[in-house]
Amino acid sequence: MSRRAEDQIGSIADTLLQPTSAAGVYARTALFERVVEGLSGLITRLREPDAEIFRFPPVMSRQQLERSGYLKSFPHLLGSVSCLHGEESDIRALVEGRDPDQDWVAGLSATDLVLTPAACYPLYPLVATSGSAVPVKGLLFDVASYCFRRERSFEVDRLQAFQMREWVCMGTPEQALDFQTRWKFRADGLATKLALPHTVAPASDPFFGRAGKLMAMSQLQQSLKFELLIPVHSEELPTACMSFNYHQDHFGATWGLVTDAGAVAHTACVAFGLDRLALALFATHGLDLRNWPKMVRETLGFDREGYVTTSERPRYTNGTTPRGNTAVTE
Ligand code: ATP
Ligand code: ZN
Ligand code: MG
Repeated sequence: MSRRAEDQIGSIADTLLQPTSAAGVYARTALFERVVEGLSGLITRLREPDAEIFRFPPVMSRQQLERSGYLKSFPHLLGSVSCLHGEESDIRALVEGRDPDQDWVAGLSATDLVLTPAACYPLYPLVATSGSAVPVKGLLFDVASYCFRRERSFEVDRLQAFQMREWVCMGTPEQALDFQTRWKFRADGLATKLALPHTVAPASDPFFGRAGKLMAMSQLQQSLKFELLIPVHSEELPTACMSFNYHQDHFGATWGLVTDAGAVAHTACVAFGLDRLALALFATHGLDLRNWPKMVRETLGFDREGYVTTSERPRYTNGTTPRGNTAVTE
């Protein structure tokens, strides 16, 4: 890894992100958020029509995440919400440290919540509760969440808490696979318009333990995951800024999602790492948005000063009538 590139991203990050006392957890500056806002608007403009939109909180049901199989695949990354339980007197004794043998932290116990590890996890059970079959043309969603992962290394682009936007497709195997493939190609064009040096490469998830290595190999062999890689730190170890994932029938079978023809639905998702994409843009084009290439500013909807102009009203289909009725509002 070149020392120069490492120093450069370090000094860029020092300007854009303010450290907190926790590693891998940052306060974002206005400048950084302006680019995140530009990216968010761009993703909205690129979204395929008829996508249903949901924004999720950074916590989700523990039971749902367990059922999704997360503990089998990524227990090392999971964060869980713990609270103090019991009578007022028990809680008071703990927090006031009256019992010298018991730190208040030892009095914590798990709740029914975990920290959302990826934006699409809460979606599958939500769609399943509607009880209706996935229609012939398939279903598309646009979701976002603040995500948490207990990452072991805390480089500036490997955060513990980060912003993820995703598009999700549910339908037949062909529809899900086609969705993954078409966005893998389109993302290549998108990175070119943002003047970001990049490659799209097969990838695997960071599965847990020894059995996880086999799962990762099988994922690679079956071409289930690809990543858009951008040299943020270095050419040798480029950073995954987007991923294209085909889950086959994993979520469909888990949640009982079926197609109109009665088969188990297949799913795929396209994930945008908003913080990593923003960092990649700053690392490539510098800190002064006014000096970014014209094509990049236009793609992000920035005016000459580098502020987002909101010329287009986003179209959306849900949230104006009860779920299931997807009348377009404009
Ligand atoms: P990596 O290969 O870096 O471990 P991943 O393959 O685990 O990432 P995904 O599960 O595909 O990542 O998540 C979707 C996107 O979310 C990634 O492409 C990336 O842009 C972003 N992302 C994932 N983990 C982090 C993190 N720790 N910090 C910042 N962004 C992240
Ligand atoms: Zn996903
Ligand atoms: Mg990866």
